[in-house]
Amino acid sequence: MNAFDEVNQFFDRAADRLGLDDGTRDLLKKPWRELTVSVPVRMDDGSIEVFNGYRIQHNAARGPYKGGTRFHPAADVNEVRALASLMTWKTAVVDIPFGGAKGGIQCDPRTLSETERNRMTRRYTTNIHHLLGVNRDIPAPDMGTDSQTMAWMMDAYGAIAGYTPGIVTGKPIEIGGSVGRDAAPGRGAVYVMGEAARDMGLTVDGARVVVQGFGQVGSWVARIAHEMGCKVVAVSGIEGGIYNPNGLDIPKVVEHLQEGNGVVGFPGSDAVSNTDLLELDCDVLVPAAIESVIHQGNAPRIRAAVVVEAANHPVTPEGDAILNDRGIHVLPDILVNAGGVVGSYFEWTQNLYQHKWDEDEVSEELHKIMSSAYRDVWEIVQREQVTFREAAFLLGVGRVHHAAKLRGFV
Ligand code: NAD
Repeated sequence: MNAFDEVNQFFDRAADRLGLDDGTRDLLKKPWRELTVSVPVRMDDGSIEVFNGYRIQHNAARGPYKGGTRFHPAADVNEVRALASLMTWKTAVVDIPFGGAKGGIQCDPRTLSETERNRMTRRYTTNIHHLLGVNRDIPAPDMGTDSQTMAWMMDAYGAIAGYTPGIVTGKPIEIGGSVGRDAAPGRGAVYVMGEAARDMGLTVDGARVVVQGFGQVGSWVARIAHEMGCKVVAVSGIEGGIYNPNGLDIPKVVEHLQEGNGVVGFPGSDAVSNTDLLELDCDVLVPAAIESVIHQGNAPRIRAAVVVEAANHPVTPEGDAILNDRGIHVLPDILVNAGGVVGSYFEWTQNLYQHKWDEDEVSEELHKIMSSAYRDVWEIVQREQVTFREAAFLLGVGRVHHAAKLRGFV
């Protein structure tokens, strides 16, 4: 089963409960528009390599398409479809005026030089530009892309359409980015974790946290959890992880990473593989890297009390069922990591109004939106006696269906 089919299993459960007919399910499940492009790149050695690129616009019932851009070897059409549909439900869960989309290039950005990535990003943007627009579709960063990539996208789009900072979010602050956008997915995830811990009767102070993936999302989850008094006992990058049962000094781990050393080899820590890291004894496990890392095979051995899905789709439906049976709460991606798109919403709004917010304003508004979304989900968990994931899907799918009805699609 591919990632899109897996996400649709979660969708179907919500659709069953909402009593949606087959036609309505098709309307909400299928991407509204898909574009596949070849992205030819002149490599530094003079050769030409052609990469597959995608922009998938899943649903725009509630607003313009919105979603990240992933550069990763596994970013094929079904993975991008899955991520695009998650964006549709996510923007609805946090009730911001966007639909869902995702884009990507199937490549390994770590093997490309900066000039090759620059050329590839520009060609990709040129090839998809006719789908984009500040009121049509607004890309953002995702795995393998960053604020620099967004600056190149903005520049390539601007070369065709004129200066348009609002065309992408997650840009460098100096050219229209928002303060707080970098930290927003991680900060939002920790807000949700804190609210859920309170409702579950768990204590955040001193809670043992394990984070897989120490990139834009995972490193901020670790930093903010550390600031809040959690004991972050293990973190990892693609090269492997580090573990200290007494807690890692996260600001120092960040410095170690910035010195170009990866996380492995951090003084005073033991090495741990990415596989073993997921099975460490802890209170909170935060997968913040790639898809499907918790599955039928390892779900019986997960020893956390709560799994906080900072990555998109890190738990397969089979893994999810096992965790649920074992009484392990799973806080779902479409709620947990929505801080990223909320931060993007703030950046887009500032670009449209040509006005800047300060960091306090961004944090305060982010907290307000994430808390409100969490409370909406928690209310459904209690009322319907369902899991957090089922509740979040009921909320997201229900809101998109309602908007589609109001607009006359169904
Ligand atoms: P990133 O590229 O900045 O970081 C990814 C991290 O995961 C890195 O530490 C990398 O070394 C590690 N990693 C990669 N492959 C791995 C593997 N096979 N095993 C273990 N670790 C691996 O990416 P990111 O932006 O932090 O995205 C991480 C996840 O969060 C993705 O699922 C993404 O869709 C989701 N997300 C990102 C944002 C955002 O704004 N960046 C927002 C919401 C959700």
